[in-house]
Amino acid sequence: MNIIYYASGADPEVWLKAFRAYLPDAQIRIWEDGDDAPADYALVWKPPAAMLRGRTDLKAIFNLGAGVDAILQLGDALPAGVPLIRVDDAGMGVQMAEYVSHAVLRHFRRFDEYEMLQNQQQWRPLPQHRKEDFSIGVLGLGALGNRILDGLKVFDFPLLGWSRSPKQIDGVQCFHGDAGLDSFLQQTKVLVLILPLTTETENLLDESKLSQLKQGAYVINVARGAHIVDADLLKLIQNGHIAGATLDVFREEPLPLAHPFWSEKRIHITPHISALTVRDESAKQIAGKIAALERGETVAGLVDQLKGY
Ligand code: NDP
Repeated sequence: MNIIYYASGADPEVWLKAFRAYLPDAQIRIWEDGDDAPADYALVWKPPAAMLRGRTDLKAIFNLGAGVDAILQLGDALPAGVPLIRVDDAGMGVQMAEYVSHAVLRHFRRFDEYEMLQNQQQWRPLPQHRKEDFSIGVLGLGALGNRILDGLKVFDFPLLGWSRSPKQIDGVQCFHGDAGLDSFLQQTKVLVLILPLTTETENLLDESKLSQLKQGAYVINVARGAHIVDADLLKLIQNGHIAGATLDVFREEPLPLAHPFWSEKRIHITPHISALTVRDESAKQIAGKIAALERGETVAGLVDQLKGY
C-alpha cells in the first residue's frame, strides 16, 4: 500500500514515525511538488491543490484534524468521488472539555475579579452568581460539542445545545436548525462555539444574534474565528450586553497586533490551543480506519462535502 503525506506546519519526521508504527506494511512518503506516482491514501493538513488535483487513484484522503474548512477551500482540486475523512475526537474532546470548563468556571466563580482584589491586597468576598442563571449553550453537538457537554455536566449548570438536525441528549435541552436558534440564544448566558466553519455558519454570530443572548452573557469560541463578527462582539462588550469572552480562534492567526481584541480587558485570548492534535492517537485512529476501508467496511468521520463538514 502506498501513502502520500503532506502537513503544513508540522514536523514530517515525527508524524511519519507515528504512522509507520501503526502501518508497518505501508510505503509512506512525503509528497513533493511533481510527485504523481500512484498512491492509495493521502494523509494531509492544509495541502497544496497540486497534491490532490486529478488524484482519482486515491481510495481516501485523511484530514489530520477535525476542521475541514481549509481543505474544502481547494474546491474542484479535490478529486471527485474520493472520500474525505476527518479526525474524529482522537484526544481533542477532553482538551476542549478542560478548556471550556475552565473558562466557564473562571467567569462563574469570579476568579478574574478575585485576582484584581488580590493585586490590591483586598480581602472581599463577592456575591456568588446563581447557577440557575448560568445556562450554558453549546453551538454544535458533534464529537467535540458532546464531549464539552459531558465535561460540564458534573457542575449542574442548565445546559442547552444547538445543531442542524434534531438531537436528544441526556440533561441537555436541544434546539436545532434556523428555527431553533433564536430560542436557544435567548435562553443562553454562556455561549460556547464548537461549530464547523461553513458557508452557513460563517458570520453567524453578528449583532442581531449576539444581542439575543441574556444580559451579561459570556462568549467562548473554540471553533473558528469567522463564526463571529468581531466588531459586533466588541460593540456588545463595550455597551455592557456581553460581559466578556474567551477566544481561542480568530479570523486572522496569529491575531494581528493592531486588533482591538488585544486591548479589551474583558476578552481573554489564547493562541489556538484549546485542542491540539494528539499525534499518536490520530495516527492510530487513521491506521484503524485504513484497515477498516481495506476490509470494505465504512468508517466514522466521513465528510459531507456539500454540507461542508
Ligand atoms: P462534528 O462534525 O462532529 O460536529 C459538528 C456539529 O455542528 C454537528 O452537531 C452539526 O449538526 C453542527 N452544525 C454544523 N453546521 C450547522 C448548521 N448550519 N446549523 C446548526 N448546526 C450545525 O465536528 P467536531 O465536533 O468534531 O468539530 C467541530 C469544529 O471544531 C471543527 O469543524 C473545527 O472547526 C473546530 N475545531 C477547533 C479546534 C481548536 O483547536 N480550536 C480543534 C478541533 C476542531 P448535526 O449534528 O445536525 O450535523
